[in-house]
Amino acid sequence: MAGLLPVEEALARVLDGASPLPEEWIPVADCDGRVLTRDLVASRSQPPEDMSSMDGYALRAADLPGRLTVVGEAAAGRGFPGEVGDGQAARIFTGAPIPDGADAVVMQEDTSRDGDTVIIDRTARAGQFIRRRGLDFTAGVTGLPAGTVMNPRSLALAAAMNHASVPVHRRPRVAILSTGDELVEPGTAPGPNQIVSSNALAIAAIARRAGADVTHLGIAPDRLEATLSRVRDARDGGHDILVTSGGASVGEYDLMREVIRHEGGELGFWKIAMRPGKPLMMADLGATRLLGLPGNPVASFVCAMLFLEPLIARLAGRLVNGPTTAAAVLGADVPANDLRADHLRARVIETDGRLVATPFPVQDSSMIRVLAEADALILRPAHAPAARQGDPCRIVRLPR
Ligand code: AMP
Ligand code: MG
Repeated sequence: MAGLLPVEEALARVLDGASPLPEEWIPVADCDGRVLTRDLVASRSQPPEDMSSMDGYALRAADLPGRLTVVGEAAAGRGFPGEVGDGQAARIFTGAPIPDGADAVVMQEDTSRDGDTVIIDRTARAGQFIRRRGLDFTAGVTGLPAGTVMNPRSLALAAAMNHASVPVHRRPRVAILSTGDELVEPGTAPGPNQIVSSNALAIAAIARRAGADVTHLGIAPDRLEATLSRVRDARDGGHDILVTSGGASVGEYDLMREVIRHEGGELGFWKIAMRPGKPLMMADLGATRLLGLPGNPVASFVCAMLFLEPLIARLAGRLVNGPTTAAAVLGADVPANDLRADHLRARVIETDGRLVATPFPVQDSSMIRVLAEADALILRPAHAPAARQGDPCRIVRLPR
C-alpha cells in the first residue's frame, strides 16, 4: 500500500489556495459565528461619564460622618442637573451620572433617611462606588480586532461600541451531491437493491454548523451526463464548494475523472492513510472547489469533519487548526494499528475526572447506528502499538 497520503498532507492540499471570502456588511444582531474583516473601533467611551455603581447617595466624602441635606435625585438616563455642595447629598441609582460636586457614593444600606435629610454614621473613601468615564472602553480604542470570531460576548461589545452593522467574510456556499444508482431520498420507498441516502444530510448539518449556506443537489445516478449536469449546476450556481459523496470505487472514479475533464478542471485523487475513508477527490471548477468524499456513511462523515469543515472554516476567515483533541484513557484493549491512522467510534464516560473512551467492538464504516451512538473518535496514529485498557489516548469529540 505504497503512496498513501498522510491525513495532514491531504488537509494541506484541500486548503491549498483557499482564502477567506470577500467582505460583506451585516446587522450586528446577525454576526454570531462570523469573522470580522476589519478592526471594530469604539466610537464612544463607556461609561460615557462617571457613573454610580450603587443605589445610595452621592456626596462629598469629606462631609462624613454627618447629616446631609438631600437636594435632588440622579437616575440612570436622567442625571441631576444641579450641584452637590458642602453638607449636601443627591439620591442616586446605579448607572446614573455622578452629579457635579459629589466625589463618592454611599450605598443605601449604610444610610437612614429623615425627611429631606440623610444620616450617615460612617466615613467614605473619595471615589467609592464610582465607575470612571471610559472604565470599560474609551473612544478610539480597537475593541475587536480584524479576525475576531464573533460570539455572544463580542457581539455585545460590538453593539455597545455602537456598531449597527459589522464587516465580515461572506458565508461559504456549499452544494452537496449524492451519487449512486442505489440511492433514494429519505421518505421514498426504496426499490429492489436500493438504500436510503443519508450522507448528504449529515454533510449538510456539519457544513451548516461550520457556518456555510447549503444547497442540496439531490442524487445523481452513476452516468456521465446526469453527473455532469449537476456538477455544472453547482459551479454555475456560485457555490464555493461542491461536495460529492460516493463514486469513489475505481469505475466510478473514471466517471468522475470524465466529468472533471469535461469541465476543464484538474482532478486530484488521493488515497489517504486513514480509516475510515481512504479515497478523496479534489478539483477546482472555476471558483468552485469540488471535494469528493467516499460513499461509506462513516467514511463520508469523518472525511467531512476532517476536510470539509476546515475548508469551510478557512473560507469563512477562521483559523484552521487540526481537530480539537482531548486526553482520555482507553476503556478496552486495542490491537496494534497498521499504516492507516484510525478513528475508532467510541463511547465516552467521565469517571473520577477522567474521560474513559471505549471503542465499539465492530468498527465497520457502513454502520450509521454506531456512529449515531458514539460520542467521540479515538485517534490511533499510523503504526501505533497495541494498547491496554487504562492506557492514555487522544479523542476527538463528535458534534453533539
Ligand atoms: P461508493 O463510494 O459510491 O462506492 O459507495 C460506497 C458505499 O457507500 C456503498 O455501499 C454505497 O451504497 C454507500 N453510499 C454511497 N452513497 C451513500 C449515501 N448518500 N448514503 C448512504 N450510503 C451511501
Ligand atoms: Mg457509488
